[in-house]
Amino acid sequence: MDTVGKFMKWLRDETEAIKASEVKSPKEKVGKNEVVIGTLEDPDLRKLFTLRGLLAERAEAQMKEQLHQAIDGFGQKKEHDSSTCPGCAIRRTLEQMGVRHETINSMCWAGVRAELSDAATIQLSDAGGTIGIREDWQIVICEPEKAAPPSIIEVLSSHGFGFGFPG
Ligand SMILES: [Zn+2]
Repeated sequence: MDTVGKFMKWLRDETEAIKASEVKSPKEKVGKNEVVIGTLEDPDLRKLFTLRGLLAERAEAQMKEQLHQAIDGFGQKKEHDSSTCPGCAIRRTLEQMGVRHETINSMCWAGVRAELSDAATIQLSDAGGTIGIREDWQIVICEPEKAAPPSIIEVLSSHGFGFGFPG
């Protein structure tokens, strides 16, 4: 199967595995300077947002597990082999999960924008264009500092993990 096909299959399997009862809107309330411009109604998009949250949780859990393995392995003096090195395994996990998370994140926001009414699209563009989802799936125009939450990669990069992803 080609790479895009594999990715799309993974995405379909993941979203189909999310039950309706597991779909949850963000808890964050609408900020006092935010403007509600609609509600996210599409059930598939709601699932995609839920998956976005799940991926972040899973990445964190896997990181913890691998960090423990890496710490256990410290002090064992061997020739460095990236295929068995726990530190390198962490880097690979971060790279793969980070890219997936970024992709799902972009798909979420592209999907939300596609759902907006023409009037809301104009309002969003005139306001400078950052968009967010708040409790009960309200779509808001964000204050500048309340743009989409930082990605895993951004968070980790700010903690000294450098990946040098293009773009
Ligand atoms: Zn290594």
